[in-house]
Amino acid sequence: MRCGNLTRFDVTRRTRLREFLHLDLGGHPTVEETEVLLDELEQVRCRWCDAVDSVELVPRPDADDAG
Ligand SMILES: [Zn+2]
Repeated sequence: MRCGNLTRFDVTRRTRLREFLHLDLGGHPTVEETEVLLDELEQVRCRWCDAVDSVELVPRPDADDAG
């Protein structure tokens, strides 16, 4: 049974990254390059009714989900 929520979910994912770290003279690190070694979706939970895995997410590799 679905509550109708289509836009807000808690997503648990396993991500493994390799970062190219560049330290400036002051010792402040900057990540210049990020390589995704593993990006695995573990669980999607509805924030409204707590239903787990009742939702299918369509992967959009070029979508910016930082917001
Ligand atoms: Zn729901």
